[in-house]
Amino acid sequence: MIKKKCNKRLSELATKLNKECFGSKTKFTIQWGSRRMTSSFGTAHYKSKLIKISPVIVDLNKISWDSEDLREVIVHELCHLYLYQTTGKCQGHNKLFQAEMDKHCPNATSHTYHSLKTKPKNKSNKTWIHTYECPNCQYQVVYERKTDRRACGKCCKQYNGGKWAADYSFVLVESKQVHKNSVWLYK
Ligand SMILES: [Zn+2]
Ligand SMILES: [Zn+2]
Repeated sequence: MIKKKCNKRLSELATKLNKECFGSKTKFTIQWGSRRMTSSFGTAHYKSKLIKISPVIVDLNKISWDSEDLREVIVHELCHLYLYQTTGKCQGHNKLFQAEMDKHCPNATSHTYHSLKTKPKNKSNKTWIHTYECPNCQYQVVYERKTDRRACGKCCKQYNGGKWAADYSFVLVESKQVHKNSVWLYK
């Protein structure tokens, strides 16, 4: 298991793999990503040539320095940069990419997806609701999104020939967080 997220050691490993697989032709830098990198194992940025590896996924899957999964993800990201740098185009996960990866990771079940545990994005079970009131008749409405262009239908119809009027434009009286399951109560 990788305890200390050492960029130097990661860089040494990637340099070794670049030599093995791409004859050291890939220009890149590599570093551990932030703790917010939770859904992808690795990323490569074509322009800056920066590869990032997720420390979260490493931890969740108890991945060690000599793990085949770690090797595969680094080769995968190097492969993206290698193809971009040698062909001048982003090749994505196309046939060329698959063929190149087959050479270096012949035992991988997929060159596009991995079956490692990922951390789901923080999904809050709360949502905001905003209560608005007509300044004329005090009629109240609730919206899940903030709005400043809505007006009271009743008053606009009754006093302005059905057209929108600033005088009857809803005024925000309260914003609060509620459980998503209870939202229907306010609709
Ligand atoms: Zn990829
Ligand atoms: Zn009104």
